[in-house]
Amino acid sequence: MSDHRIIEMRIHCVTIPAKTVHSHGSGDVGGINAALCELITDSGLTGWGEASPWPVFTGTLEGNAAALHVHLRPQVIGRDPVLIEPIMTNAERVLVGHPEAKAALECALLDLTGQIAGLPIAELVGGRHRDSIPLSFSVANPDFDADLEDIGAIWDSGVRIFKLKTGFADHAFDLMRLEKLRHVYGDEARLRIDYNQGLAAFDAIRHIRDLEAFRPEFVEQPVRMFEREALAEITRAVDVPIMADESVFDVRDATRAAAHRMADIFSLKTAKSGGIRRCIEIAAIARSAGIEVYGGCMFETSLAHMAGAHLMAAIPNLTLGCEFYMSTYYAQDDIATHPFPVFDGHVHVPVLPGLGTAPDPEALARYRSQILTNEGAT
Ligand SMILES: [Mg+2]
Repeated sequence: MSDHRIIEMRIHCVTIPAKTVHSHGSGDVGGINAALCELITDSGLTGWGEASPWPVFTGTLEGNAAALHVHLRPQVIGRDPVLIEPIMTNAERVLVGHPEAKAALECALLDLTGQIAGLPIAELVGGRHRDSIPLSFSVANPDFDADLEDIGAIWDSGVRIFKLKTGFADHAFDLMRLEKLRHVYGDEARLRIDYNQGLAAFDAIRHIRDLEAFRPEFVEQPVRMFEREALAEITRAVDVPIMADESVFDVRDATRAAAHRMADIFSLKTAKSGGIRRCIEIAAIARSAGIEVYGGCMFETSLAHMAGAHLMAAIPNLTLGCEFYMSTYYAQDDIATHPFPVFDGHVHVPVLPGLGTAPDPEALARYRSQILTNEGAT
């Protein structure tokens, strides 16, 4: 127990435009839509967390802002912020779904607890295994010539991992892009492919076998999230490792996917699982089944990326890196007080107590459409 009490929750709804529209098979995305959760204590501390839903994947901004404002607010006002598991267990009991809102709440509690303890979140959740994580950039511009220019600049900045988003053009376009990247960058490039559920299950194996010549490190979520038997069949049939993203949201999904070996890799995302600590539980299930994990993300600001960096620092085995590139390479603006720490192709794990960042008040005001407080909406 601590002698701090939470007295206010504020939810800031923000939209930050992207430099270019990205196509992800299951939808085009032109910016980051986030509900930022700010918790304030009677001692004057402020903790932050982020919910950045994607309607075709996890949920809506409106739904998650309401989840925080109406349903989760009563779970934290007057409570001691260090009671993270009791508060989150209650949050899961009073509200089904909305894992992004729960992730935002948990992150804000961890941020406060870290400031009280004088420890970064990575240490609070077990301690860091590494200080930096190799960064993957997603190749997702329908205009591949523009993408090639971006890739060139990002390559020069030290990034060596590239994930091709597919499903917005035909199979020949995907093969052409892979061939081109292998030709230009040779074996130094680490290539992955994310179908975002875009392949037809009846014909998926043949498509994936065509990719193997270009030596991808993994193929992500080839079929629809509910086609889990097909996903398991694909995983057995092809040599390239298969990653589950949309098919593994929470601990229950992970248990089932591990028991039936539906994939070789799970993509961890706090927004899918309801927070950093639930992701660590999923990673433990994966580890016990010989399944690798990967640091995935949604369309997020550097606040959620920071939470992801703390999470992935605390994972024992990590060979595939993370994709926390949005605030550096995708968004028009990084709203945090300090730029998200990407250099030499790596994300550098924060060392400040708590989350280690906060929104800049002026940037927040510039991109904010609404603020929800204890008193109501303004
Ligand atoms: Mg994915």
